[in-house]
Amino acid sequence: MKRKLKLLFLLSISVFLIILILKELKNTIPDSIRPEVETALGHFPELKGIPIEFKFKKNIRKSVMQAQPTWSALLKPKSKRSYVILISEEFKISDEEFKTVDMPTDVLIGWVGHELGHVMDYQERGNLNLVGFGVRYVLLKEFVKKAERAADSFAVSRGMSEYILKTKRFILDHSEIDETYKTRIKQYYLSPDEIMEMVKEQDSLNDNGLL
Ligand SMILES: [Zn+2]
Repeated sequence: MKRKLKLLFLLSISVFLIILILKELKNTIPDSIRPEVETALGHFPELKGIPIEFKFKKNIRKSVMQAQPTWSALLKPKSKRSYVILISEEFKISDEEFKTVDMPTDVLIGWVGHELGHVMDYQERGNLNLVGFGVRYVLLKEFVKKAERAADSFAVSRGMSEYILKTKRFILDHSEIDETYKTRIKQYYLSPDEIMEMVKEQDSLNDNGLL
């Protein structure tokens, strides 16, 4: 009897894994943010064919959006990976809740662009490295800083600097936004000045025909 149960258990796990692996995924975008997401996606032609699900969630701890690989992605080759970008339905300003969909259009585009920057970064990593990424992100402050900067840099290098700057200014200029969140942004992310610097560098590389 015990043996049978064990077998049944193993069988269901295998079926579950096979379904995960074979499930065909497509981009899923909620209608309320479709234009903004599509504008941002337009800057990342490399991500064409990589399924990304944009999904609203009631509340995400400590952030407004979060890009992560799906579980099944960790079992597949890079080219077959899929991702999910979680979007908090609301965020707080002065203890008042605001809806993410009511953010200015360009700010929302910049925000999505930053998340797609994370996906670009993930795409350059092997599966084991990706698992390590999760662990390091939780444990090491220096690593968070590196990862957030990488995401911003990808977006800037894909011509999204204007949007990224607007997103950043939106957060930093809203004196009413939760102070802990602002401190976090200042600590880990590129500052508006650093982004400007990055744009200048890229422009000069472009001018010299190096990019
Ligand atoms: Zn980020």
